[in-house]
Amino acid sequence: MRIVVPAGGIGGARFLRGLKAALGIGAPATDEQTTVNTITVIGNTGDDITLFGLRICPDLDTVMYTLGGGIDEEQGWGRADETFTVKEELAAYGMKPTWFGLGDRDTATHIVRAQMIAAGYPLSAITEALCDRWRPGVRLIPMTDDQVETHVVVDDGGGRRAIHFQEWWIRHRAALPAEQIISVGADAAGPAPGVLAAVAEADAVIIPPSNPVVSVGSILNVPGIREAMVGKTVVGVSPIIGGAPVRGMADACLTAIGVETGAGAVAEHLGPDLLDGWLVDDADAGTVVEGVEVRSRPLYMSDPAATEAIARAAVDLAVELAGRGAADGGTGG
Ligand code: GDP
Ligand code: CA
Repeated sequence: MRIVVPAGGIGGARFLRGLKAALGIGAPATDEQTTVNTITVIGNTGDDITLFGLRICPDLDTVMYTLGGGIDEEQGWGRADETFTVKEELAAYGMKPTWFGLGDRDTATHIVRAQMIAAGYPLSAITEALCDRWRPGVRLIPMTDDQVETHVVVDDGGGRRAIHFQEWWIRHRAALPAEQIISVGADAAGPAPGVLAAVAEADAVIIPPSNPVVSVGSILNVPGIREAMVGKTVVGVSPIIGGAPVRGMADACLTAIGVETGAGAVAEHLGPDLLDGWLVDDADAGTVVEGVEVRSRPLYMSDPAATEAIARAAVDLAVELAGRGAADGGTGG
């Protein structure tokens, strides 16, 4: 099977590890293995930020490090065995900001990227080059080679202003009420090379439990991507369980765009025209989304085996719904 996954960082990467296991990617080949499974990840670049002259792509790097075996497992982002000497030295120079966790090992990645940007390479080519080292077992393509940045409109008493998503998320821990979340540059952006072809060739699109607004939402906001996916069999995994995000502050993002923090509400927001199937946790059994096949099962990615089982359930539902679409003569839209 050929699967396309629009993914953010931590949640997306953890799910992808389970999906690789479920599809036998990275496992030793067996004699009976007759089909070739592939995963193309469309990575979120809305969180990207330029700091200290370095372009930083947190979600692409989280996917690359997680699947390539270099992630800090506890934290879920950044390199394992990381040190922060560069960060301390920058602070000693009075360089701002000080709230971003720039690690030494990680900085090498950003230097490689900066050098390739200076040489004129697009982000998609740079990501491919970085993946030559990490061999993540998936094809990782940024959603766009154009600059799209998520900004958040806040009012901290001193008037309304837009700040970079990272400043809102990390510095303010998403505690400053957000009035609006904007994908700056999205209107003029286009999908990176390979994105639309991967979607066109895919047997299914699986939406992982990533942030539905600033990760999955940013990817779908790039003109052309959502439209290409609508015609495919699309199955999503709810990032909301029992009315709350499992980790992180996705509820603050949903509130900012006027969507209730609920498994059903997120599916309605993604849209029944896009979604064919939606997995919710057993805590949300009974959720009804018109036009979408909703199934419940445990959705906590508590360990690799549990995550693999969630991924397998998503693949199984996609196969079932694709078959049904074929029987109806439809395209699974
Ligand atoms: P990203 O969006 O992939 O960059 O990663 P985040 O970790 O920021 O967001 C993932 C989102 O998925 C979180 O906001 C949670 O709502 C959700 N999430 C995190 N862990 C789990 C889990 O174990 N199961 C499910 N179903 N959702 C999760
Ligand atoms: Ca993210």
